[in-house]
Amino acid sequence: MSAARTATDSAVGAMGADPARARVTTEPAPVTAPIPTIAHAHAGASALADARAQLADAVGELGYDEGTYAMLAAARRELAVSIPLRRDDGSTQVLTGYRVQHNISRGPAKGGLRYAPSVNIDEVRALAMWMTWKCALLDVPYGGAKGGIAIDPRRYSTLELERVTRRFTSEILPIIGPHQDIPAPDLGTDEQTMAWILDTYSVTQGHTVPGVVTGKPLSLGGSLGRASATSRGVVHVAKAALESEGIDPRGATAAVQGFGKVGRDAARFLEQEGARVVAVSDQYGAVQAGLDGAGGTKGLDIEALAAHVDATGSVVGFAGGDALPPADLLTLEVDLLVPAAVEGVIHEDNARDIRARLIVEGANGPTTREADRILRERGVVVVPDILANAGGVIVSYFEWVQANQSYRWDVRDVEQRLAERMIAAWHGVSRYARDSGMTLRAAATTLAVQRVTEAHRLRGLYP
Ligand code: NAD
Repeated sequence: MSAARTATDSAVGAMGADPARARVTTEPAPVTAPIPTIAHAHAGASALADARAQLADAVGELGYDEGTYAMLAAARRELAVSIPLRRDDGSTQVLTGYRVQHNISRGPAKGGLRYAPSVNIDEVRALAMWMTWKCALLDVPYGGAKGGIAIDPRRYSTLELERVTRRFTSEILPIIGPHQDIPAPDLGTDEQTMAWILDTYSVTQGHTVPGVVTGKPLSLGGSLGRASATSRGVVHVAKAALESEGIDPRGATAAVQGFGKVGRDAARFLEQEGARVVAVSDQYGAVQAGLDGAGGTKGLDIEALAAHVDATGSVVGFAGGDALPPADLLTLEVDLLVPAAVEGVIHEDNARDIRARLIVEGANGPTTREADRILRERGVVVVPDILANAGGVIVSYFEWVQANQSYRWDVRDVEQRLAERMIAAWHGVSRYARDSGMTLRAAATTLAVQRVTEAHRLRGLYP
């Protein structure tokens, strides 16, 4: 385990108070690659490079010093583990997993657990940092974390996935817990994964600990409204953003990339709001709605599409639409584009071709930094991930509160409180962006960095 030491007395002592006294530590931090200084934070193209560059911009905007940046650019704690797996055929395979706690200044670390072949330490670091900003922006009392295992879950049986999850849980056991770090579902994981983590952790404690995970099944203390919370939040913010752009959500056209936990319900809720979801994709392909009698575009029938996906595992071959090259979904002429799959799908090579008026990021990190710049120049409004997809962590927080109190809230309470928080955050970020002339992403990141730094300043640096 490498606990990245990133701050020095002088660095934290200088926060906000006396920048002139700031000194950047010369002690090398035990991480695989050096953390760039603010001046070098914009070099490189990866999720982590983008995350650090966003941080550097926010730190610059706030007038904080290099030490503050250095402290926030690196994770507080990182754990890489080997996961030996007994395959169903009797052979043994060793997988690699990670848990990164980026920041815990405002409360326990919180963040999803991802199962995907592309998982690597830098991706997990970036996602953990974005979780810190998301929790601070939405004012939930958590720090940020993320975890992942480099595995393609489609190639493993359910029993194998259970063994992987239990072994991974036992390896990261020392750093998780209801007051330490609380995992949740992400790409490639679901409520069953959370149930296995809950059980493995609880067995080691000798009693059931429902607060150790969120996004768990209802029958194990999950919250009503959690499964659809991220998507509901995406649609609350999408509606507000469309309206602020002068577009009536009823009748607006939308394209949704990804038809998993986030994309599927986002498409469904958009349809319920009267929008026309004209195209949807997943990792296998894409479908597009046909034309109506008058030559306009119809919306896809999302319920029928969901039934098709349940039956076949993919949107491909859906009889209620036409096949579309998946890359073309991103460049359709629509009012709203919701990327809800993976990082980096909107990049410098396709950003000039985007014809959506508004992008609302259901996924984490779907827009690269270079694409962000191009979209800004072209007047495409981007509602950033740390705001748009925060509904999941908000209701995760509600679930954790309910679990710790052994009390269940009514679904209307959950959804009402979710809507209030999302809309309040939208107004806070859009107002700040308008007043400062920043993009919504820069405004959201700056607000969040300010809150996290304030927590550090008030707590001081131990010893
Ligand atoms: P999921 O595994 O349930 O679904 C992912 C979907 O994306 C699937 O339909 C998959 O086929 C599709 N997909 C994968 N690669 C693709 C590609 N290259 N092109 C098109 N489609 C592709 O995952 P999820 O939980 O819906 O997460 C999606 C994104 O939302 C991730 O970035 C995740 O970090 C983010 N997110 C999830 C939550 C949550 O509560 N689940 C909360 C906040 C953010």
